[in-house]
Amino acid sequence: MTDKVHLGHRARKRFGQNFLNDDMIIDKIVTAIDPKPADNLVEIGPGLGAITEPVVDLSEKLTVVELDKDLAERLIKHPFMGPKLTVHQGDAMKFDFASLIKDGEKLKIFGNLPYNVSTPLLFHLFEFADHVEHMHFMLQKEVVKRMVANPDSKAFGRLSVMTQYYCNAMPVIEVPPECFKPAPKVDSAVIRLIPKKPEQRSAKSTKILNTVCLEAFNQRRKTLRNSLSNLLTSEEMAEIGIDATKRAENLSLSQFIDIANWIYDNKQ
Ligand code: SAM
Repeated sequence: MTDKVHLGHRARKRFGQNFLNDDMIIDKIVTAIDPKPADNLVEIGPGLGAITEPVVDLSEKLTVVELDKDLAERLIKHPFMGPKLTVHQGDAMKFDFASLIKDGEKLKIFGNLPYNVSTPLLFHLFEFADHVEHMHFMLQKEVVKRMVANPDSKAFGRLSVMTQYYCNAMPVIEVPPECFKPAPKVDSAVIRLIPKKPEQRSAKSTKILNTVCLEAFNQRRKTLRNSLSNLLTSEEMAEIGIDATKRAENLSLSQFIDIANWIYDNKQ
């Protein structure tokens, strides 16, 4: 058997399949998720069930979303499959997580995410922030660094602004490549995301906030006068209280929100 075959399944690169194969790390992840019988739990990309199985043991209700048909079918046939577990075969990036909520309860979402689509998947998940109590995701360590990066650093970008707009984020576990089969080429880390309350999120339009970030960081070496020229004049930046000679990486989250809200109020 090659390194790519794990528990009789050949890992598919296009689905970002790197299966966890280290009991100590799996234990740490389950401890971080802290599943309780009353929780409405959701796993993205259960794969061969490395995290699914211990979480099912501790809980009463787990929904999993798996894109790979073979793996979804394998889970449905698995001995731990029972009334506690619901398998959705499909793309988590198109999944309506709000459809899993009853009686205003919140979801606890987790997963060892496919690294090839982790950023768009995170952006999709942020849209459900109001329905989520917490999320725990294994990601490329570099992505985790970008999510928690502060202004004035190279890692600070659109992902930092949008993550920190929606959530309080903290790295909780570091995971080296040898804990997976096949081993990825990069280091990994688990991040904990706790959505902020709606009243802590003051952007009038998250779509505009996202557009401002896209424009600003698209040409991150340029000054804001140039990188935001499609959206604002230098005079308008001065009116908002933004120094047009700075770069995107020098702005704080609240300054990005100020810019987006000014555009919402004045240019819609
Ligand atoms: N949870 C397993 C583990 O830790 O061993 C597998 C993790 S593997 C890194 C990522 C999993 O996500 C795979 O099972 C893959 O098939 C699945 N996947 C990939 N893209 C997906 C998508 N868009 N929606 C849902 N699942 C996806």
